[in-house]
Amino acid sequence: MSANAPLLEADDVTVSFPAGGGFFGLAKRKVRAVNGVSLTVRRGETLGIVGESGSGKSTLGRALLGLEPISSGHVTFDGIRISDGRRPALVTLRRRTAMVFQDPANSLNPRLTVNETLAEVLRVHAKVSRAGEAARVAELLSLVGLDPALGDRRPRSLSGGQCQRVGIARALAVEPDLVIADECIAALDVSIQGQIINLFLDLQERIGLTLVFIAHDLAIVRRLCDRVAVLYLGRVVEEGPTEAVFSAPRHPYTAALIAAIPEIDPDMVLPDAPMGGEPPSPMAMPKGCPFHPRCAFAENPCRTGAPPVLARRDNHGWACILAPGTLRSPSPTPARSQPLEISA
Ligand code: SF4
Repeated sequence: MSANAPLLEADDVTVSFPAGGGFFGLAKRKVRAVNGVSLTVRRGETLGIVGESGSGKSTLGRALLGLEPISSGHVTFDGIRISDGRRPALVTLRRRTAMVFQDPANSLNPRLTVNETLAEVLRVHAKVSRAGEAARVAELLSLVGLDPALGDRRPRSLSGGQCQRVGIARALAVEPDLVIADECIAALDVSIQGQIINLFLDLQERIGLTLVFIAHDLAIVRRLCDRVAVLYLGRVVEEGPTEAVFSAPRHPYTAALIAAIPEIDPDMVLPDAPMGGEPPSPMAMPKGCPFHPRCAFAENPCRTGAPPVLARRDNHGWACILAPGTLRSPSPTPARSQPLEISA
């Protein structure tokens, strides 16, 4: 299998939930948390999925791993259609993928020591013989930068950063082809966030980890990810190579998110006040472009026409009627994969 072959593909995936309540027919209405998303994750690459709270990032991440039923569309993992819900396909998915969750402490069993947590995964997935368990557990702890002597501890006696490293070690115990990390650093201190990001950069280099990194922090996504997909109200509004998206965003929503990064290049030319207010309720989606109520560039066709579809040019896609170059910055941007400088 070539290094650039698609490992995971989402084709027009929609995830809907009941709108809630039982009055006036509300129970029959559906909210689309994910709305027609198509994405490809290639072997060995890191795809960042970004957007505000409620954009559908986490729902999409769970749907990609078969943890959330999809309403329409398809998900294919290494050529196997997994969205049909057939058991053999789901077993394959469980054996070859893993998820790292946001809350490091609560995602671990408080009654189990670190060693027991990791040994349990090795046993369930039959990764090593009983005799080889202890050595593999120690190896996994070293891989994520933890002293194997911590293996006898339970989660309550570990820091948040240590718990998250155990969570990553547990994910790696499956020897996954793909890890989806869902806001896995959001609850951590900045210095610990830097350590976890450096750990992912290291794992990319050492074991060629394929990673889907879901986050709302664009500065971190810029450092870690090869490509980025920007979600707004469940739709991909921009997608492309990270540096292409960050240096020349084509969608006003992306430009607004980038402009809000505290450390953004001061020479970067971006709209002054491109976005106001909150996203509309998914239960009351505006006509036309879903972003038009907040968009400083909105014109009549944006309010009355069909929602723009994702147009592509040179591997970079965006869903906006603006001409390329409208939001462009000529400023160079730093290369990715620079380890973060971690302040104490
Ligand atoms: Fe703004 Fe119109 Fe583009 Fe939507 S289509 S992002 S409203 S300019």
